[in-house]
Amino acid sequence: MVAKPLSESFSRTQVTPAGPSKPLSAPQKALRKMGLLRDIDLALHIPLRYEDETHIVKLRDTRDGDAVQIEARVTHSEVQLRPRRQLCVTVDDGTDTCVLRFFSFYPAQQKALAVGQVIRARGEVRGGFSGFTMMHPAFKPAAGELPAELTPVYPTSAGLPQAYIRRVIAGAMARADLRETLPAKLAWPESPRGKKIHSLREALLFLHHPTPDVSLAALEDRTHPAWQRLKAEELLAQQLSQRMAKQERDTLRAPALIRRHGAWHDKLQQTLPFQLTAAQARVGQEIANDLSRAVPMHRLLQGDVGAGKTVVAALAAMLAIDAGWQCALMAPTEILAQQHFVKLVGWLAPLGVRVAWLTGSQKKKERTEMLSLIESGEAALIVGTHAVIQAQVKFKNLALAVIDEQHRFGVAQRLALREKMEDVGMEPHLLMMTATPIPRTLAMSYYADLEVSVIDELPPGRTPVVTKVISDSRREDVVARIGAQLAEGRQVYWVCPLIEESEALDLTNATATHEALSAVLPGSLVGLLHSRMSVLEKRDVMAKFTQGVMGVLVSTTVIEVGVDVPNASLMVIEHAERFGLSQLHQLRGRVGRGAAASACVLLYGTPEGGRLSETARERLRAMVDTNDGFEIARRDLEIRGPGEFLGARQSGAALLRFADLATDENLLEWARQVAPWMLENEPGLAERHIARWLGGKSEFLKA
Ligand code: ADP
Ligand code: MG
Repeated sequence: MVAKPLSESFSRTQVTPAGPSKPLSAPQKALRKMGLLRDIDLALHIPLRYEDETHIVKLRDTRDGDAVQIEARVTHSEVQLRPRRQLCVTVDDGTDTCVLRFFSFYPAQQKALAVGQVIRARGEVRGGFSGFTMMHPAFKPAAGELPAELTPVYPTSAGLPQAYIRRVIAGAMARADLRETLPAKLAWPESPRGKKIHSLREALLFLHHPTPDVSLAALEDRTHPAWQRLKAEELLAQQLSQRMAKQERDTLRAPALIRRHGAWHDKLQQTLPFQLTAAQARVGQEIANDLSRAVPMHRLLQGDVGAGKTVVAALAAMLAIDAGWQCALMAPTEILAQQHFVKLVGWLAPLGVRVAWLTGSQKKKERTEMLSLIESGEAALIVGTHAVIQAQVKFKNLALAVIDEQHRFGVAQRLALREKMEDVGMEPHLLMMTATPIPRTLAMSYYADLEVSVIDELPPGRTPVVTKVISDSRREDVVARIGAQLAEGRQVYWVCPLIEESEALDLTNATATHEALSAVLPGSLVGLLHSRMSVLEKRDVMAKFTQGVMGVLVSTTVIEVGVDVPNASLMVIEHAERFGLSQLHQLRGRVGRGAAASACVLLYGTPEGGRLSETARERLRAMVDTNDGFEIARRDLEIRGPGEFLGARQSGAALLRFADLATDENLLEWARQVAPWMLENEPGLAERHIARWLGGKSEFLKA
């Protein structure tokens, strides 16, 4: 059974400790640290596994490797010093004898195992030719009746003994308010096996103390009805809380941005050097509809790399500006923000729209100037990095915030953006953009409160990027290929995974590659870009590459997101086996942006005489097989599991402790159907349900 980390899960729950004046004992502190504060938190702390102490097995009836409990009298006890110090205790249960061996032991344990004591010992019996042995069995004096139920073993931490946590959980189960929060008439999702569970109380009682006849497999793979019940309730809490967040947002006000025909929005569309694709036009309309309402938009714009999200954002910005408001556009890196800035100025300056620029690395004078343009409202569009949401930045009237590559931003940053208009009692509309498609179950759970628009079509005239996987030993061929591209006036990216020589990792460093390529490609400018360079240096290199002065750009993964140089037609990724799948796809998306046929070469290095790992092979194979971001995301989910997709919502990821989106889609479907009905018909129960399951954490879901 997989233990999910609990430490974070309830850390935000606000519950008064038992006695604030009394100092906490070590186990109390440990409980607190694990977030086990309220009785309900303890009641929902489910065993990791169980031990069967319900019956005794006679030694005669055991076989080598059986995990059993025996009851026997100690007939001999000695500390042996060879081959290493150990306590050897011989016990006899009337049918046979067994030697218990302990390599570490306390005097008290030695005493409890003195000759004449009758004990119960649990462990794996080994039946060598010299008789039975057990290594480090758990044991206790044979007293009292055997328990009727399996003994729970709880997830615990240092300073928190099992016996203690068992006791507090038993106490909490007796006290906790476990009244049903689910309406009686609710239809339950089909349980795959086992008998029906009628209440949360019943499910919890069972999971803490299952009867020995239960299928341990059903408990361990969490398909038992008691588990299903818990998971369904948890998913329902998540759905309820997201819907409530959405309802709450719907009571907030935002400026209604009504489209005026013939204004900047239309002018921009007319002056663009291309026609919008049908998909761009459709999502543009979806966004425009949202913006025309006096309720804050909360929309995710998905589109594969190169699908053309930027222009959609620019058109949305125009709607805000046409209505006399400001728009902010944030990107996760300075390079990307800079590119957006240059591109947007190129489109908008001719129309007379003033664009401001904000980053952390800005000179004080420029920054002060920008801040005043923003505060006065002279700048209608503000482009930048995280600097845009800093407290000192005062907008005149921010109506729309666009967040590019939203998975790079945290919840706190989105909240900060939304607070920018608090003093006038409004919230800006929020448009989040991502090139990483969200798998269906994630979209249904963590992103349930988002509206989603998808650009499912690439601009016309692009030839798909051809991907080749090539061994590092054929580097020279690749260099020759670069030469051919340069001769045709094309440009090339070369991506390396690390900046500095690290013998341990044996990665070719970018500097060395840069030097080597410069030497073999005389007559063309080879540039170098890595994260240790100053912002000015980076900007200079990027400018040369964008303008086409520089033929080859050797870079670490700083170019990963968003860079747009349509003339680049070859992407070489060195040690591609070390990159994640979605990262590879992002990188490949830097080429194939113009009409020229483009290629992506995945160079792989194998460890001395070794082979690529199976997952590395799968990743490279997926890259060759498809250019489709959705397919890549699906395969990535298969290879990595869902956790990594959550990105900025990682804070929320800890919320699901029991349910697993990979296996519990049916429960998720059920919760999605039940949640709106329950909010409508049983709002009181819904509120209690959320409080029980999420405590103080539901705030996280609102961002
Ligand atoms: P992404 O969705 O990855 O952010 P970009 O917005 O950077 O993609 O667009 C990729 C390239 O395609 C840019 O050079 C952009 O100007 C161009 N582009 C966008 N829309 C169209 C279109 N409808 N027709 C032709 N080119 C387009
Ligand atoms: Mg982009």
